[in-house]
Amino acid sequence: MRLQQRATELRFSSDFVDSLPGEAPREPVEARQVTGQCYAEVSPTPVSAPSLLVANVKLAEALGFSEARIREEDFVQVLAGNALFESMRPYAMCYGGHQFGQWAGQLGDGRAINLAERDFAVAQDHGLTQATLQLKGAGPTPFSRFADGRAVLRSSLREYVCSEAMHALGVPTTRALSLVLTGDHVERDMFYDGRPAYEPGAIVCRVSPSFIRFGNFELPASRGDLPLLTRWVEFTLSRYYPVQWQLYRVDPVEGLLSFLAEVQSRSLDLVVHWMRLGFVHAVLNTDNMSILGETIDYGPFGWIDDFAPDWTPNTTDRQHRRYRFGQQPAVVHWNLFQLANALFPLVREAEPLEAILSGFEPEYERRWLAMMRKRLGLTDEAASDLAFFNELESLMSDLSLDMTLFYRLLTETPVTEMTRPNFIEACRALSYRTTDSDQWDALQSWLGRYQQRRASGDPQKSVASMSAANPCIVPRNFILQELVDKVGEGDVDSLNQALRAFERPYDNGDEQRPFKRMRPDWALDRPGCSSLSCSS
Ligand code: AMP
Ligand code: MG
Repeated sequence: MRLQQRATELRFSSDFVDSLPGEAPREPVEARQVTGQCYAEVSPTPVSAPSLLVANVKLAEALGFSEARIREEDFVQVLAGNALFESMRPYAMCYGGHQFGQWAGQLGDGRAINLAERDFAVAQDHGLTQATLQLKGAGPTPFSRFADGRAVLRSSLREYVCSEAMHALGVPTTRALSLVLTGDHVERDMFYDGRPAYEPGAIVCRVSPSFIRFGNFELPASRGDLPLLTRWVEFTLSRYYPVQWQLYRVDPVEGLLSFLAEVQSRSLDLVVHWMRLGFVHAVLNTDNMSILGETIDYGPFGWIDDFAPDWTPNTTDRQHRRYRFGQQPAVVHWNLFQLANALFPLVREAEPLEAILSGFEPEYERRWLAMMRKRLGLTDEAASDLAFFNELESLMSDLSLDMTLFYRLLTETPVTEMTRPNFIEACRALSYRTTDSDQWDALQSWLGRYQQRRASGDPQKSVASMSAANPCIVPRNFILQELVDKVGEGDVDSLNQALRAFERPYDNGDEQRPFKRMRPDWALDRPGCSSLSCSS
């Protein structure tokens, strides 16, 4: 169904489709290889009884739509994939990727359909460079392979809450505009154990300047299609990397090298944020790496409760734990190698690409140290910082301390009190250990040295820096699971309450209190909390 937009309303544009080569719509939609094209035009498949579960009013307003407008029937039909505004030319992007370390060939948007871009000038007025609206779970595309193109409520709710929390935590991420229940049921074998069940279907409307991934460059490079690779490069640079685009137009190789360096820099910032917050993406395949350095594709992710560098919640990755918490910087580096390989046919010299990549590790260490100093309120640098911080992490791991609450305790306690016995008692209350440990004395000793290290700094500055780096709450899996259960019982108020709390995760207020707590015991073996699969 095609809908007229109101005459007074801001238009959508189709910059991507207008600027790049793609396949025209084909009926029926069948899984296929799409070569020589950046996308396939495809419309969402209608659903039976859509209802708007939550709408992101602030984001809607940033895009130029009022709360009343986004809740209107015709708008909800668009957010459910049942209707399109006349200016929309929906498409699924073609990309490939390395999955769990192996080249997987063509992947593409198997269940994400991009509707349109928001008019460039309008978006800029609202602090966005460009906004693409994308429905996740809107039905099959030529890239759906053997799957149905749909998404279930539990994973859609997780994505909505987590991506908005991530934004509020100050981390680059795709956003969520709406969560719609489709009224249809979707069959999923949650743990791939031959016990499929029907679950409510849902669609999230995601928003980002662009959903282009490393894999968009890898696929044409793997096929030796240099003209198409060049189109991807030139579109990405001209729309999202103005400095690199200027360079590229004078000297393409210089432009490409600067592009790789900038993507690396953004990816470094991203992974330092994740390490600060205890976020485990859990499926860091190259098709899930945004070319803009945003967190993208929320699947079986999790947040560290007890500080455990080897932890991943993703059961699909149980054997090798490739995407475990502590491995994420190395994996992001590996993924950047794949991007560099994809750009190589256009650069034609390995050395300058390698020179950029070899800067990753020292730069990661530099930025990680800076982040740790901020979160610990240290205003100067010491040569021993790396060893000092590593010692703390190793103690947190041995003592099984709740990462978020421990850093928050440090933030909220006057530094003069940290060597008192009742402070160690407060730390003990944040431990998941069931047996005693001789490491508590070691923590006490570390805290003594920390106190001395803080003595030279301005206490007010330290607390301000710590309060901005250590959130009170992060959307841990048990919190999300509770919300999934509540919404399943029809309690949407709880979801709205949580969304309000996670809008200000660094506040220590009444709204945050229900979510500022340790992992309860029941969450240890509850599916959806400590274990999740890619089935979503
Ligand atoms: P992911 O690891 O979740 O980012 O997905 C890997 C690939 O599988 C991407 O090409 C997705 O579009 C595709 N995919 C995941 N789930 C589905 C689904 N239910 N239907 C169609 N394609 C899917
Ligand atoms: Mg993906």
